[in-house]
Amino acid sequence: MRIDVVTIFPEYLEPLNVSLVGKARARGLLDVRVHDLRRWTYDRHHTVDDTPYGGGPGMVMKPEPWGEALDEILGTATSPAGTTPAAGTTPAPMLVVPTPGGRPFDQELAVELSGAPWLVFTPARYEGIDRRVIDEYADRLDVREVSIGDYVLAGGEAPVLVMVEAVARLLPGVLGNAESHQDDSFAAGPMSHLLEGPVYTKPPQWRDRGIPEVLLSGHHGRIARWRRDQALARTAANRPDLIARCDPSSLDAHDRAE
Ligand code: SAM
Repeated sequence: MRIDVVTIFPEYLEPLNVSLVGKARARGLLDVRVHDLRRWTYDRHHTVDDTPYGGGPGMVMKPEPWGEALDEILGTATSPAGTTPAAGTTPAPMLVVPTPGGRPFDQELAVELSGAPWLVFTPARYEGIDRRVIDEYADRLDVREVSIGDYVLAGGEAPVLVMVEAVARLLPGVLGNAESHQDDSFAAGPMSHLLEGPVYTKPPQWRDRGIPEVLLSGHHGRIARWRRDQALARTAANRPDLIARCDPSSLDAHDRAE
């Protein structure tokens, strides 16, 4: 998968060189390219913002640098509205626009993005990007406006780090054990919409705390049932909204399969 990020703070994306994403890059599973938006400015101060039409506080990111940056990065993958790029030459990019006004980012969207060959992220600052930029590319590309939660950050770089990590760990070959994300909270399957329950490791006794007896039983059916009960209890306590989306018949099927 190829990932491009256009930002006025390229250094903010340095964590993409470490840990899981960094290793995926080193192994050639991910091609990440971070671009400084100011490269596409031509005045002495490398200006990327201006005052909002209609008045009000804050500044808005100017359309010209974004347009030039995206045209250059997307290259032949996109053509002006009404024309069609040469078929089969370049994978179709998806433009991901972080904004508190976007669709909430969730595991389902992470799975969908992980199937795309090429993601281009446009993390903004100030009051966001001039709307015409999003409208311009929505005429040519699959554009997703995405929020990582109901709060407002100073910029879209942290949301990009969140989304890239969530997507990268779903790519084939990135996690050592592919099954480890299949049991995660929110993962599709009979336990979908449930949060994962508590986990334990050695030693069997730590301070005055042991581990649940069932986990030592070696009985796979009982262990699976216990995990499911724990997942239900945690979900009911922390995310009652998810319980309503949980399909009881799929839970029964999960029990029968054990
Ligand atoms: N005035 C905007 C609003 O109320 O929707 C907020 C702008 S915010 C200060 C600047 C940028 O940070 C946004 O354009 C977006 O790129 C990013 N951002 C802030 N919060 C975000 C969130 N919850 N999810 C995704 N991106 C966010």
